[in-house]
Amino acid sequence: MENNFLIFIFVFAFGTIIGSFLNVLIYRLPRDMSIVFPSSHCPKCGHKLRWYENIPVFSYIFLKGKCNKCKTSISLKYPIVEILTGLSASLSYLKWGISIDFAFNFVFLALVIAISFIDLDFKIIPDELNLIGFLSGLIYSAIRADFSIIDALLGSFVGAGFLFATAYLYLKFRGIEGLGMGDVKLLAFFGSYLGWFGSLFVIFVGSILGVIVGLTLAYIYKSEDKAKFEIPFGPYLSIAGVLYLFFGEIIKNWYLGV
Ligand SMILES: [Zn+2]
Repeated sequence: MENNFLIFIFVFAFGTIIGSFLNVLIYRLPRDMSIVFPSSHCPKCGHKLRWYENIPVFSYIFLKGKCNKCKTSISLKYPIVEILTGLSASLSYLKWGISIDFAFNFVFLALVIAISFIDLDFKIIPDELNLIGFLSGLIYSAIRADFSIIDALLGSFVGAGFLFATAYLYLKFRGIEGLGMGDVKLLAFFGSYLGWFGSLFVIFVGSILGVIVGLTLAYIYKSEDKAKFEIPFGPYLSIAGVLYLFFGEIIKNWYLGV
């Protein structure tokens, strides 16, 4: 038990380190910057972070959320991404233990975190993240006992196809781009992990979440300026995807009455 607790803490710490790397991706990918060079620095004054200024979560607390040199505020987003990634690793460990399943499912969660934060800020989803997710899901499907590569491909095809058709119809009949191609490719990624049923679940639950949050925000702000609180679709799809990743088996069995 004690041993398990130590592993749990270790896995959480490992997750925050990956989260720190996700922060680099979230900042640099949408800006078309190299993810390797230069090393981490303050975006305002260029101060290069020393190792103790770059420890996930802790450094943010010690530095009181400010650059050590120019005292510019550092966004709370950084420690939030690190903690979310740490939690993702811990929860994956609780569900899958230290295993191949842990590795692949944690890749799913890490990609989802990067994708959601980039989508929230820039309203785009970088192709390379969706592609890595799709390929990783395909490879995983080849070694999973409960899932086949056919399920994975069918999931991608059904999910991406459904969203693509929706985007096409929306554009044709309302003349507005309601859905981006990034969302379509995101479903190709999710489908390869979650299968056809999971893809449909993600679209259905993601849409409901979007409507509920959208109406709530519209009610709170009573604003005419809808763009102000317009949240991209990616994060809603992502929340639904994470739910299905952890509870998919239960959901599917319940729905299909198995
Ligand atoms: Zn600075």
